[in-house]
Amino acid sequence: MTFTVRRPAPGTAPLISADELPPLGHFIDGKFTEPGPELSDVLDPATEELLVRVPLGGVEDTDRAVAAARAAHPAWARVTPKERSEVLLAVAERIDANADLLIRLESADTGKPFAVSRDDIGMAADGFRFMAGALRAPSSSMASGEYVADHTSVMLREPLGVIGAVTPWNYPLLMGAWKIAPILAAGNCLVLKPSEQTPLSTLKFAELVADLLPAGVFNVVTGRGSVVGDRLARHPDIAMIALTGSTSSGQAVARAAADTVKRAHLELGGKAPFVVFEDADLKAAAAGLRTAGFWNSGQECGAACRVLVHASVAEEFTAHVVREIEQITVGDPRAGDAIEIGPLVSKPHYDRVRGYLGRAIAQGARPVVGGTALDEDRPGYFVAPTVLSDVAEGAEITREEVFGPVVSIETFTDEDEAIRRANDVDAGLAASVWTESARRSHAVAARLDAGTVWVNSHLVLANEVPWGGFKGSGYGRDLSVYALEDYSRTKHVMHHHGR
Ligand code: NAD
Repeated sequence: MTFTVRRPAPGTAPLISADELPPLGHFIDGKFTEPGPELSDVLDPATEELLVRVPLGGVEDTDRAVAAARAAHPAWARVTPKERSEVLLAVAERIDANADLLIRLESADTGKPFAVSRDDIGMAADGFRFMAGALRAPSSSMASGEYVADHTSVMLREPLGVIGAVTPWNYPLLMGAWKIAPILAAGNCLVLKPSEQTPLSTLKFAELVADLLPAGVFNVVTGRGSVVGDRLARHPDIAMIALTGSTSSGQAVARAAADTVKRAHLELGGKAPFVVFEDADLKAAAAGLRTAGFWNSGQECGAACRVLVHASVAEEFTAHVVREIEQITVGDPRAGDAIEIGPLVSKPHYDRVRGYLGRAIAQGARPVVGGTALDEDRPGYFVAPTVLSDVAEGAEITREEVFGPVVSIETFTDEDEAIRRANDVDAGLAASVWTESARRSHAVAARLDAGTVWVNSHLVLANEVPWGGFKGSGYGRDLSVYALEDYSRTKHVMHHHGR
């Protein structure tokens, strides 16, 4: 079967009107700056039309933002947990009150279907609510006591100071919220650099919350990773650099951060295995793969892009998968709520994904669904939802992060082999195991080398639980109280009271 790209009816209004766009400058010390001379184009990937031009910041802009954050920090660090919590709750309410606008803006900037943008914005607001509550509950690591005779120890958690945050294009505002909420909750100030490809929702967020946060507490500088991101990673007044992005950007940031012995918090790429045993509910697993492999057009660090299925059920499972994936509707988000997969984010990324597809097929993988770009003679970076079977162990498509709507299927014959191959990649972000066996569900989950392992599920997240990787997927945790701890430091104060 072939997929058609669903387009909006002629005359359908643009997703966003000119007066709904954010101010197009950096947000520093509570105000938007005038845009500088160097600008970069922000395109709608479904239409390839220019949305706006956004300033490419330089070292001076970054330094001004860091100075503003540093000046604001002492007062923000002294705000009581109760008051800080109220600010974060107000931020969550502001997101909710403007959810429709933020959803449309995110879909225009990234090409995401509305279902994905809606989920992003809802989870972002909930993240602020979670952190507003979590910051008021002291953790056990703050316990005090007398551990040496006549000495009372007090364990304090303190903010780190000013944090640099760098975010990717796949979930622009959501990945921003995953940084902003715990960083502010822990009493830090920050300078955030969104992806140069998708800065609009972050700038809009800054505009929307400008009256809720004291000037300088939260700053945004738009621009390139190699300029603004690199300066944040090197700046002596930044205490930690937190990046969500590719493994190569994480390596660059960690290297740059080393000069000032700065902490790094790295949420990097993934290559999640989806391990299906012969006793699994195959239909449920195939339905799970539809979301887990194709949500956000597969541009998802935890995407189930690598199926390992027991050889004895591979044919039956693949047939269920084909039935599921063939039902996916591809299109421009403006074509309505039925759209499940939008375009890829940019021309370079589209070319990259097509390159992986072409090479995989040339190397013998068989597309049982999709396998090609769609509507190549019309605007938009659309790729068919693709399932590749007959994929050889160790093939490029099984090792490298494609970050598109492409899932490969390999087979295995026993549990040890499944685990060995599932773990045999550089990434260790996420994995899932599909089985009806209680023993296997525990045993395999324990041996999978990934920061998140789902059993009979995949890609289900909540603000209460940690997210982050092992190995090449980085270190540090987003979400949950673990993020709150990552963005603070431990101090021991010991009082001698003997005579
Ligand atoms: P990317 O690494 O190209 O860019 C991410 C951000 O880093 C951008 O803002 C970019 O400007 C900046 N950057 C690039 N080089 C830099 C440098 N030398 N110094 C400082 N900043 C730099 O990634 P992307 O293409 O925007 O996003 C896709 C990648 O992000 C994928 O690998 C994906 O797996 C990963 N990701 C991971 C998670 C997670 O939670 N682990 C979540 C979302 C995305």
